Amino acid sequence: MTSVLHRIALALAALLFLTAEAAAQAPGARPGGPGGPQRGARPEAASPDAPPAAARAAIPWVDVHTHLVGGGQRLGAQDYDAAAAAIIKAMDEANVRASFVMPTPQPAGGAGNYDQDAFLSAIKPYRGRLFAMGGGGSIGPMILAQPDAGEVDDARRERFVTMAKAILDAGAIGFGEMTVTHLSHLEQHSYHRARPDHPLFLLLADIAAQRDVPIDLHMDPVIEPGPAPAHMKSSRNPATLVPNLAQFEVLLAHNRAARIVWAHAGWDQTEHWTADLARRLLAAHANLYMSLKVQPRSPLRNQALGRDGQIAPEWKQLMVDFPDRFVMGTDRFYAGENAAGGTAAGAVFAERTPSLTVGARILLNQLPPDLARKVAISNVEKIYKVKID
Ligand SMILES: [Zn+2]
Ligand SMILES: [Zn+2]
Repeated sequence: MTSVLHRIALALAALLFLTAEAAAQAPGARPGGPGGPQRGARPEAASPDAPPAAARAAIPWVDVHTHLVGGGQRLGAQDYDAAAAAIIKAMDEANVRASFVMPTPQPAGGAGNYDQDAFLSAIKPYRGRLFAMGGGGSIGPMILAQPDAGEVDDARRERFVTMAKAILDAGAIGFGEMTVTHLSHLEQHSYHRARPDHPLFLLLADIAAQRDVPIDLHMDPVIEPGPAPAHMKSSRNPATLVPNLAQFEVLLAHNRAARIVWAHAGWDQTEHWTADLARRLLAAHANLYMSLKVQPRSPLRNQALGRDGQIAPEWKQLMVDFPDRFVMGTDRFYAGENAAGGTAAGAVFAERTPSLTVGARILLNQLPPDLARKVAISNVEKIYKVKID
């Protein structure tokens, strides 16, 4: 009886999504973007912000991968206080106990680069609910500046170590968002690449192991050279993508005490991140973890949530087989009122991404209860070494 009711609730949830997504679909919107089609909708009018019943009933969980938008191109001042208030409000509505906020991955020499110190004071009032990770705007760009470096001189290494340790000393619970291959989704959104076995990545693994913190890593996987998939239309992406998996495995093997959380599992953008690939890597590397990013009704391949609103069987089986290796990380962007409507990538993503929270809850609801509790909270506590109240 319970299972019948459960199925009816899921079917209803899927139906509500259909309606919500259809209503929100803006003409010309590209559905495979970081959040899907939400451009132009006011947050309170965005249907995915009002989760269907099945999602509302989800268990408490932790979102390990979020971003605060501190400003937009129209803004003269940063507005992290408002973004922090916005994320707390959304967390309360979605039963999210804690969120880990991190600077977005930023390019070498970017004019507006920022790191965790930009938002630390804004999240301070929410101790126990908002935790910082850092590096995306400081040590990340330092690696991207010399993406194929085979070696790094002592002075540069020393500077890198000092900066990395300072991030943790300031209170960050790990490094993020780091990138090795990061495709551009918008013309105002950067493309990054560095070799995953870059000497500074290996060094970062050693620092992370020594300090017992994880590394959040964005790597759009590339198995063989080829063009970006057709839906990735940004002109910033190169004509041919550079393979990265063999070098990623070098990084994973370099220091087994370094926990690497590969961000955005189940949200394949290159058409290479299959459940089979994830299975092979999880089996080979005990220090590899994955945070799931779930886009409801994505038309793309290899997604953890199918277009019917059901978890893809191969991803569910993977989670059943590796129950300690998955967490939820929506990659949702949060902005205060003043940043809404801006044209900077962060402001655009803040409008597009509320549905990712809904997707996360729908996925959690479809897992066996023991597994759901692990993915929701207990895996997070083990990987990130934080206690969730
Ligand atoms: Zn990312
Ligand atoms: Zn991100």
